[in-house]
Amino acid sequence: MNTKSVTKTEGLPPCPFCGSEDYYITLTDNPFSYDTYSTAHCSKCHATGPFVAESYLEDEPKPARDYMETVAKEKWQTRPIEDELRARIAELEEAQRWIPVTEGLPEFGTSILFYDSILERTNKGTCTALNRDKTNLQWLTDDGIYYHGNRCEYITHWKEEPELPEVQE
Ligand SMILES: [Zn+2]
Repeated sequence: MNTKSVTKTEGLPPCPFCGSEDYYITLTDNPFSYDTYSTAHCSKCHATGPFVAESYLEDEPKPARDYMETVAKEKWQTRPIEDELRARIAELEEAQRWIPVTEGLPEFGTSILFYDSILERTNKGTCTALNRDKTNLQWLTDDGIYYHGNRCEYITHWKEEPELPEVQE
């Protein structure tokens, strides 16, 4: 007969299906076939994590309970697609973020968007330096408006230009 035990466990990432942090690990032994199994379960939606199966020989000790629980937890925590999506979201958020000029300036001469916080206006244009030590800046819009000297203080943020749509002819 199979024997089954249940361990409540903590500190694992939430269920990928329902977000619950309430889960448990089951260990099942089949003493006739010398197999032991473990897996994590969500208490709320009953999603089951990857199944861990270990076989052992008749004269061998059974794999330790701690080991079986650890492997079940590791498998529950391994979320390659979720990790990839999170990384991609972070990358996209970073790409569309307004960057404060106090944090860094755009590459001089490349086309960017920059924000005039006095006129509350977004401009498309470029930033260049008028002196060698790059303290004297000039922001130029595509419409031919210059910001230099004290007016540079109007510009508080900039960001990369979004990609243009591909227009089929
Ligand atoms: Zn769940």
